[in-house]
Amino acid sequence: MPYLFDHFDVVKDLLALRPFGLFADVDGTIAEIAPSPAEARVSPVCRDSLVTLAKHLAVVAAVSGRTAVEARRMVGIDEMVYIGNHGYEKWAGGKVGLVPGVEDYPTKITEVLDKFDKLVSIDGIIVENKGPTASIHYRRCLDHEAALRAVLLAVEGLAKDADLRISLGKLVVELRPPLEVSKGTAVCSLIEEHRLSGAICLGDDLTDVDTFVALHKKEPPFKGLAIGVIGEETPSQVAKEADFILNGVTDVERFLKQVVAEVVDRPTA
Ligand SMILES: [Mg+2]
Repeated sequence: MPYLFDHFDVVKDLLALRPFGLFADVDGTIAEIAPSPAEARVSPVCRDSLVTLAKHLAVVAAVSGRTAVEARRMVGIDEMVYIGNHGYEKWAGGKVGLVPGVEDYPTKITEVLDKFDKLVSIDGIIVENKGPTASIHYRRCLDHEAALRAVLLAVEGLAKDADLRISLGKLVVELRPPLEVSKGTAVCSLIEEHRLSGAICLGDDLTDVDTFVALHKKEPPFKGLAIGVIGEETPSQVAKEADFILNGVTDVERFLKQVVAEVVDRPTA
């Protein structure tokens, strides 16, 4: 895929559209991946740009696998919208809501995790109960392959009994309700809600590919640009579905600064 900075003119044209939205994943996109989720920090350079963009664009959203409240805490900009739990939650203006149909799932997730805890004891596993979804991280396990096998062996039966779906991310196994909810459906809702003419999505993992596909499926005159943020562990589908690529959070810092320069210095009526 082409490197974005070789084609910035395309971005400039897109940024002239109004109303415009910017959607960014958090971990691996505006925050470096850390050894554990609790250690991750949003890049201050990205944050500064997002503060400005939230004032100038119709909507700026963080679209994360973390809970919406956690994403809001990490980024810390009240003028932004926070899509949490891969699309299951939305934080806006201080209020968090679950999408309809997932109300029963926090109880199911807690039950499954309790059972998982009794079945599996591997050093380094970190389990996050995120309400209607859960993440089981095996990044800190010595043998990643063995850890993944053991986790899947335990959760496959439990997930089936509780009517949950399993998906795989970067050294993480995710559990979620069997509903057509994704970062992509969340981005579509925001595009419709704000009647956007154009939008940019940035992301580095498989669940972000859903946002790329959502942008590409929107009918003209809407125009969307999918930007894959490539790191060591990025799945190949990210670059495949992206229009352009950037290399890691450092490139995202530079990119957002350039977007700010375009949006603020050359405002469009
Ligand atoms: Mg990510």
